[in-house]
Amino acid sequence: MKAAVCYGNNDVRWEAVPDVFPKEDEVKIKVKACGICGSDIPRATKMGAHSYPIILGHEFSGLVEEVGKNVKGINVGEKVTAAPLVPCYECEQCKKGNFSLCHNYSFIGSRQQGAMAEYICVPAKNVVKLSENTTFEQGALFEPATVSLHAFNINQYEPNGYVAIIGGGTIGIFAMQWAKILGCKKVVVFGRDKEHLKLSKELGADEVISTLDEDFIEQAMNLTDGKGFDYIFESAGAVATIKYSFKLAAKKAHICLIGTPTNDITFTPREWDLINRKEFILTGSWMSYSNPFPGNEWEMTKKCFADSCLKFDDRLFYKKFNMKSANNAFDLFINPNEKIKGRILLLK
Ligand SMILES: [Zn+2]
Ligand SMILES: [Zn+2]
Repeated sequence: MKAAVCYGNNDVRWEAVPDVFPKEDEVKIKVKACGICGSDIPRATKMGAHSYPIILGHEFSGLVEEVGKNVKGINVGEKVTAAPLVPCYECEQCKKGNFSLCHNYSFIGSRQQGAMAEYICVPAKNVVKLSENTTFEQGALFEPATVSLHAFNINQYEPNGYVAIIGGGTIGIFAMQWAKILGCKKVVVFGRDKEHLKLSKELGADEVISTLDEDFIEQAMNLTDGKGFDYIFESAGAVATIKYSFKLAAKKAHICLIGTPTNDITFTPREWDLINRKEFILTGSWMSYSNPFPGNEWEMTKKCFADSCLKFDDRLFYKKFNMKSANNAFDLFINPNEKIKGRILLLK
């Protein structure tokens, strides 16, 4: 078979690799679509993978090609996606159902071969069936959608509050949609990119605020009767966005950081003191799993894509490439003139 093999920085080659065969508890999937996640960029451009050569790709969908001999309930030809985490199921955290925190996990597309390939074998436990009306492209968005939903679980979300979504990228837009689905008084998306904000509004945000506006904090406070936001989901991971999350927080708010930080961050005593003065709860969220594996994040995403309460829009994808041209897709990320505004999708 052929696969997009990453050999190091800016070196992805579409080439022949050994065929894969499902072990007795595995399913072989013929890959139809695979997204490029933000986490794949350092793997392909900054020597950020665990080892090379590696086939990247963990946001994918396809058709069941073959099943191992112990696999029950999954049939050849079914449309599926798969959770990329392969937990050990034995460590202390796995036993508590905190699979994202497993001490000894593997991960499809980073610690083991991923889905930027014609075929991939995954544990049957990881397979999630797609409903008839769910497309392969939606299937490739399952993982980001589950990451957004996991943050609601971790942030002890309860309906009827004011919700702020910081960042209007894929994770932010799904988080906004989960706030609507789970119920909220008002959900507001904050971002700098006009198109992101426009899409957020079209997909259901009650309000959007451009953080390029000098008075954006004031605008935001006015939307909450001056109280601030009860739940904040920070999906950008930038210094400025983390800092203004603290400012936007209501007293006793719940703030959840989803975005992965890329820079050092320092706070003035005044900025830091907001944690004390507002007694807000600050947590992080990692990946998208709960008990029973892969978790309600995956079940809900499946259900909500099937009944279309989770809205899909083609603009969630910035560009689409044939998988054979994966190298050209990764080149976009080293092109300083390219403003990447959504997932890049590889199609087979
Ligand atoms: Zn991802
Ligand atoms: Zn474990």
